[in-house]
Amino acid sequence: MTTNTQHNLAVEALHQVWGYSEFRPLQQETIEAIQAGTDTLTVLPTGGGKSLCYQIPAAVMQGTAIIISPLISLMEDQVKSLQLLGVPAAFLNSSLNGDQVRRIKSDFFNSRLKLLYVSPERLLLDHFLEELKQVHISFFAVDEAHCISQWGHDFRPEYTKLRTLRETFPDVGIHGFTATAPPEVQREIMGQLALRDAQLFVGSYHRPNLFYRAVRRNKFNKQLLDILKQFHRGDMGIVYCLTRRETESIAAVLREQGYKALPYHAGLSQEQRKRNQDLFSQEQVQIIVATVAFGMGIDQSNVRFVIHNGMPRTLSHYQQEAGRAGRDGLPAHCILVFSAKDIQFWKRMIEEEGVLVGPRTAQLQDIINYATQLKCRHRVLIEYFGQAFEKANCGSCDICLGEVESIGEARTYSRMILSAVLKLRQTFGGAYISQVLTGSKDQKVMRNGHDQLSVHGLLKDFSQHQVHDWINQLESQGYLARSTGEYPVIKVAGPGFWLLRPEKYEKSEKDVPVFLIETRRQ
Ligand code: ADP
Ligand code: ZN
Repeated sequence: MTTNTQHNLAVEALHQVWGYSEFRPLQQETIEAIQAGTDTLTVLPTGGGKSLCYQIPAAVMQGTAIIISPLISLMEDQVKSLQLLGVPAAFLNSSLNGDQVRRIKSDFFNSRLKLLYVSPERLLLDHFLEELKQVHISFFAVDEAHCISQWGHDFRPEYTKLRTLRETFPDVGIHGFTATAPPEVQREIMGQLALRDAQLFVGSYHRPNLFYRAVRRNKFNKQLLDILKQFHRGDMGIVYCLTRRETESIAAVLREQGYKALPYHAGLSQEQRKRNQDLFSQEQVQIIVATVAFGMGIDQSNVRFVIHNGMPRTLSHYQQEAGRAGRDGLPAHCILVFSAKDIQFWKRMIEEEGVLVGPRTAQLQDIINYATQLKCRHRVLIEYFGQAFEKANCGSCDICLGEVESIGEARTYSRMILSAVLKLRQTFGGAYISQVLTGSKDQKVMRNGHDQLSVHGLLKDFSQHQVHDWINQLESQGYLARSTGEYPVIKVAGPGFWLLRPEKYEKSEKDVPVFLIETRRQ
């Protein structure tokens, strides 16, 4: 229990030191638990105000709080602003020279600091933990706590050693903070940090002002220009790409069309990156075409759209990146443009990395489901974070607005496609398979004698483009798989065989394929 005095101290600091009039959701709850010495795990979306949750108790409690953070730039920013507010704070990381380290340590050992920020590596270095025992520590705050979890989207092995905190300081409170932690990650964080009777605070991930849409990619540049037509010329936006090369070429295309657009990726020099970011925050440039390197520390509030050219590797990534839209609470659009190729790309990547293959594949499946199922996008995102979504119709996603329809005969058509894949001995790509199915008399088809196959022309009522799209959808849903290599060929995957022989697999029936068509032109 917090006493009245503790509560008053925190509110006073909020008003007097920080100059804010009230707490944001869950800040007060977290602060009170920290003051009471109860372990906590606080999950708040980016921008939710996590730092204040540990800064205020650190400022008002006896002793020094140790803040563990993996991000040097973030530590520096926070320490700078704390110092401006008159709260004694410092950081220890690899960017400092010997003199600076000695000075900070001297301040620390003389209890002149309210907060000391350290990287996890630093904390676990040179008996540093033992040294900490000489000072009265108010509590430990572990920022980006999802990094401790193998199921988190950014696992960092050095984080797992933080377990020693509890053993070394059994009487000091430990508090985890993260912006993205689905329930299994929350459980793993609490276990890994050995939290005791921890209070869990999970903020709301519902962003009613965001409009979500997921569309399949055919010609991205054209799709992008079409999408941009629905916005005003001066609207601010971010286009995320998977590769540096794409950011450059797409930014160039946009400039040709009269948009003020610049690329942003880790291959640019530091000055160039800073310049592009500054131009964006000063609104001299409206569109940033970026890799995921862009976003750290961006708090541009009037971003009207975030468009993804390609699927991010997890739904956590997507939520964070898309969540940079509409921070001002006004309507904003999040559009995921994806294709089966992205899925293939990540699958290959996961295989090549060869570590945590199980968790990473499961994480990938979450975002595949988000993109390919006929289910309210708001609901998928909110349920992903372990929260309930009450509304039957959100009114602000393509699914709920009926912009996407499923085709009733998907199962029948799927079987035709799968048979064709097998008849073609699983040695052809999607384009060719759709040619055969739509009855093409193309030279190559004739030469191969594939016009004689029973599957030739089975889907002649549909365009080749349409059938190719269905093949991609079957791949996204795991019924088909694409081989790797220079000339990828389409093969039937495990669930595909089930679909072809329903009598044999009847009992294991869990889902049927869906074919979605976008009824709204973007
Ligand atoms: P997070 O770490 O959760 O992404 P921050 O701690 O960086 O979020 O806070 C985001 C912004 O909100 C910061 O500029 C911070 O000063 C501001 N902020 C935090 N709490 C409050 C509050 N209670 N009232 C007003 N502004 C706040
Ligand atoms: Zn919806």
